[in-house]
Amino acid sequence: MIIEGIELRPCPFCGSGNMELCEETSDVERAYVFCSSCHAQGPDMNRDVARSEYKNAAARAWNCSGFYDAFLETFRVQEEDEEQAE
Ligand SMILES: [Zn+2]
Repeated sequence: MIIEGIELRPCPFCGSGNMELCEETSDVERAYVFCSSCHAQGPDMNRDVARSEYKNAAARAWNCSGFYDAFLETFRVQEEDEEQAE
């Protein structure tokens, strides 16, 4: 899926390509990529980025391999925590 001229990588959680680029302008101004299949989202872009660049920055950050790997690592840690809680 191409958003803001950028081909977004598939969701690292469910592999879906149903990504949306969301923008909030109410309480907190931010933009982020959202998976409409599993509702994963991130990363928030709201600081040090011009408002007109929020969405483009969020799309680029989503594709950033460092973020992508960190996102997956966070997901694994959360899964382990949930297993221990049971
Ligand atoms: Zn997903």
